[in-house]
Amino acid sequence: MRGEHCHLIDEDGTRYLDFASGIAVNLLGHSHKGLIGAIQRQAETLMHVSNLYGSPQGEALASRLVEKTFADTVFFTNSGAEAVETAIKTARAYHQHAGNDEKFELITFKNAFHGRTMATISASNQEKMHKGFEPLLPGFRYVDFDDLEGAKAAIGPNTAGFLVEPIQGEGGIRPGSQDFIKGLRDLADAHDLMLVFDEVQCGVARTGTLYAYEQYDVQPDIMATAKGIGGGFPLGACLATEKAARGMTFGTHGSTYGGNPLAIAAGMAVLDAVANDDFLSEVRTKGERLRSRLEQFIGNYPDLFEEVRGKGLMLGMKMKCEPRPFMIHLRDHHQLLTVAAGDSTLRLLPPLVIGDAEMDEFFDKLSAGAASFEPERAA
Ligand code: PMP
Repeated sequence: MRGEHCHLIDEDGTRYLDFASGIAVNLLGHSHKGLIGAIQRQAETLMHVSNLYGSPQGEALASRLVEKTFADTVFFTNSGAEAVETAIKTARAYHQHAGNDEKFELITFKNAFHGRTMATISASNQEKMHKGFEPLLPGFRYVDFDDLEGAKAAIGPNTAGFLVEPIQGEGGIRPGSQDFIKGLRDLADAHDLMLVFDEVQCGVARTGTLYAYEQYDVQPDIMATAKGIGGGFPLGACLATEKAARGMTFGTHGSTYGGNPLAIAAGMAVLDAVANDDFLSEVRTKGERLRSRLEQFIGNYPDLFEEVRGKGLMLGMKMKCEPRPFMIHLRDHHQLLTVAAGDSTLRLLPPLVIGDAEMDEFFDKLSAGAASFEPERAA
């Protein structure tokens, strides 16, 4: 298997159009020259050094992130789950640092996905992720997504904060409403709680702004980012304001590989490519075009599709049948790669560098796939 821009090519030479991007990772597509060059140059210079000795490269990427976001501090990780773990620890430490040891509970939301480690499955309210791994960690309380009143009612003496994906990804591409996201900010301010955003999937230019929170005009106290930030190299980060990070004093947390020079070089190359107005506005334009064509398209197949959801190039088609058989049909018969999300949505997460020709190719494949798909036979 090899990758070429927006395509994957298997051992037999069959070309697949990639509308999955390794689940929102390969935002510069495959074999991106700038990304390869940055990793090669770094590999020839220094492969690994303990971050205990400090890292000029890591500090440079942290400074770029601080400059471009709400954050004052950055802690690098190797994955999204570790970034969320760090965010959970940061929120708890914020209160414990002030002697409020009882404030350890995070309010999280139904259908959320925060990762596969013990703390992150405990934070994710999905039974199928818990089964076989109980007991879960204490300290998480689940509330319906987009239910501000429910979130308010759940606040108690043990509450440390809210942990939320501004746009749920695995849960089915569900953007939180403006009132909900802003309302969580107001509740956090009123009760001295931490507002933690999990932007592992919706972050890094995917929705047409560097982070999705910008479109809500609401800033978190703590945020987890990963996936796209390494463009394919394992890199994540937990970002926080100075105030929110007050409990994370030197020596309280660590990671051998987090901020590894190779991953940092990849992160720098990605930010060089995406963190500018021209690139971001192109993502918005492409997202709007894709969305309006999809809306037109689903009108031709009212038995298969219900609606189009999402922002930028993070879009989902809600289906009237199980999305997995359709995903497999598209892959095996039309060489189009997509990702199912939840039990009713087909996710479209193309590389952000997608061009007009690939967009047309996508609609050719999708139309042929929808015309030849028989849900009853596939089920
Ligand atoms: N949070 C969100 C919102 C995610 O979508 C994911 C991955 N799908 C994770 C966390 C976990 O990331 P990773 O698989 O890199 O641990």
